[in-house]
Amino acid sequence: MLRLVYDERHRLHRDPGDRHPEGVWRVENSVEALRTSPAWSYVEVVRALDPDYGTVLLAHDPEYVEWIRGECSKGFHYVDADTYVTEHTCDVAASFAATTREAALRTVEAGGLWFIMARPGGHHAGRRGPAMGAPTLGFCIFDYVAVAARALADLGYRVMILDFDAHHGNGTQEILWSEPRALHVDIHQRWLYPGTGDVGDVGGPGAEGTKINVPLYPGSGDGHYAWVLDNVVERARAVFEPDVVLVFAGFDAHREDRLTKLEVTEETYALLGSYLRDLVTRGEVRGVVAVLGGGYGRGMVSSFVTFVESLLGVRGRPSITPVLPGKYVEYGVERVLRMLERTVRTLPRRG
Ligand SMILES: [Zn+2]
Repeated sequence: MLRLVYDERHRLHRDPGDRHPEGVWRVENSVEALRTSPAWSYVEVVRALDPDYGTVLLAHDPEYVEWIRGECSKGFHYVDADTYVTEHTCDVAASFAATTREAALRTVEAGGLWFIMARPGGHHAGRRGPAMGAPTLGFCIFDYVAVAARALADLGYRVMILDFDAHHGNGTQEILWSEPRALHVDIHQRWLYPGTGDVGDVGGPGAEGTKINVPLYPGSGDGHYAWVLDNVVERARAVFEPDVVLVFAGFDAHREDRLTKLEVTEETYALLGSYLRDLVTRGEVRGVVAVLGGGYGRGMVSSFVTFVESLLGVRGRPSITPVLPGKYVEYGVERVLRMLERTVRTLPRRG
C-alpha cells in the first residue's frame, strides 16, 4: 500500500501565464496517469496537513521564513531570476513541509510507503535562502526532505536521503552538512545548475562521509545509474543502516527532459523503485517517504508512474548492465565510504 499525498492546494502556486517549466500539469497529469495503472488498487489518496511554520523552522532560519512570507504577501512576482511566488505559495510549501515531517514520523514508527505530490520544489532551498553560493532558489521555497530528516535525526533515528533529481540538492546538503545522522546520497548532472555537488564534498566536521555526491556527465544513461545504485547507494546504505529512506524523486534525468542531458529512460526509475521496495521487503528499512522533485518534459509522467509501479511491485526489476561512470567516481566513492565507516562508528544506536 502506498499513501499518495495529493492535495489541490498545490494549484494555488501557479504562474498566471503558465510560462514556468514547473507547472501545475506536472502533478495533475501524473496522478491522472497513475489512476489508469494497475498500481492504483494499492494507492490510498491522503490530503496534506495545514501549513505549519514551526515545522519549517526545523530547516530554515526565522529571518528567511519571515522574508519569504513577506514576498508571498505581495502576490505573484519573481523573487529571483527563476523562482516566483503567489500570495499562497508560502502556505502551500509550509503545508507540504508539515506533511512530509508527519509522514516520516509515522513511517519510522509503523512502517509504510509514501509519495508526496509536493509543489513548489524543495531541495534547492537552503537555511537562509539560496544555498551553497547558488544565485537563486531554483523554483524551491522550503526544503521538505531536510525538514523531515531534521525531525527524525533530532529523535535519534538514522535517515538516508536518496536524491536522484538531475540537479544537485544543494539546499538539503547545506542544511544537513554537519548532521551525522543524515546520510545524503545525491546523483546529479555535472556542471548543471546549481553547480555544486562535487565528489570531494563529503560533509562537515563530525559528519564526514555522510554526504555523498555523484556528479554524472551529460549523456550518462541507464547503465551509469545501475552502477551507482550497486556501488554507491547500496554500499553506503549497508554501512549506515538507516531506519528510513527519504527520497527526493526528481524525474528530470529522463532523456526527454527540457532542462537536462542525463538521457535515462523509464528503466532507471523502475530500477530505483524496485531497489527501494526490496529494502522494505527485506526489513532493511522501515519505510520510504518520497517527495516529488523535478521533471519538466514528456518523460515526467511516464517516469513517475513507472517508479510508483516498481515501488509497489506491480512492475518487476529491470535488468540493466552497469557501466562505470568514470574513474573519478570510483576513487571518490572509495574515499567517502571509508569516511562514512569511521563516522558511523561514532554514532550511538537509538534505544
Ligand atoms: Zn531537478
